[in-house]
Amino acid sequence: MEKGGRSYLGVEIKRPRVAFFELSSCEGCQLQILNNEASLLSFLSLVEIVNFREAMSIRSDDYEIAFVEGSVTRADEEERLKRIRKRAGVLVALGSCACFGGVNQLKNRFNDLEWVKHEVYGDHPVETREVQPLSAFVEVDLSIYGCPVKKEEVEQIVTNLVLGKSVDHPRYPVCMECTAKGNTCLFELGEPCLGPITRAGCDSWCPDNRMGCWGCRGPADEANIIQFREVIRKHNIPEEVMLDRMECFGGFRHILKEMKGKQDKGQME
Ligand code: SF4
Ligand code: SF4
Ligand code: SF4
Repeated sequence: MEKGGRSYLGVEIKRPRVAFFELSSCEGCQLQILNNEASLLSFLSLVEIVNFREAMSIRSDDYEIAFVEGSVTRADEEERLKRIRKRAGVLVALGSCACFGGVNQLKNRFNDLEWVKHEVYGDHPVETREVQPLSAFVEVDLSIYGCPVKKEEVEQIVTNLVLGKSVDHPRYPVCMECTAKGNTCLFELGEPCLGPITRAGCDSWCPDNRMGCWGCRGPADEANIIQFREVIRKHNIPEEVMLDRMECFGGFRHILKEMKGKQDKGQME
């Protein structure tokens, strides 16, 4: 790492060369970072950005930390991702598309991808294949969850990386953040919410704005699905509504698969 000539608590800190890349995505996560005008200059003083197509035209293949947004939906993306992995000391999956496949992976619901391709692109020759997160192809050092990511959280994580501090995601669910604010629970208003089983860290973004959580940050550690099903039954929310939400970003894929397996064996009530 290049020496930046600055210090923190008397220890010299280095200014890493950072690159941003996008695969199949809406680029909303990268936009979040640029949108943080209040602290953007401090952020830029912490790192040296050498690649960020959404913000600048300079390109470099010499970087230490790579942030990769988006999921893998084509062969050329897989190759590109592998090249990025080779060059980067630290590879960060930026946002739910990169971490879980994101909204893109809804396409995987359909068995016939040729049919999907025709419905979306007509007769245009476009390659498309099953949507996968980055971790299906390369080792991911760090995941930043959210659709989109929360800019304050990204800055905090980057600061920790630069200072060599560990990065810990909240293990508890969104409900903890929501109830701490004294919000009226949406279940009490008859509305669905995945807050009890979704990883916190967004500062209960949706419930604060009277929208139920859709689980964009994936499951909280030890998410209690059995208890959660009891809660939705008690509030007369149809299970399909919750399953639809759990499918939306791909973070609950393994839990859904496990539930289906149990259902097939007649082990689910
Ligand atoms: S995670 Fe959401 S905001 Fe980020 S690139 Fe994917 S779709 Fe866009
Ligand atoms: S609104 Fe959602 S996040 Fe908030 S307490 Fe109720 S279930 Fe939890
Ligand atoms: S409340 Fe849920 S859907 Fe909304 S940002 Fe937070 S984790 Fe994502």
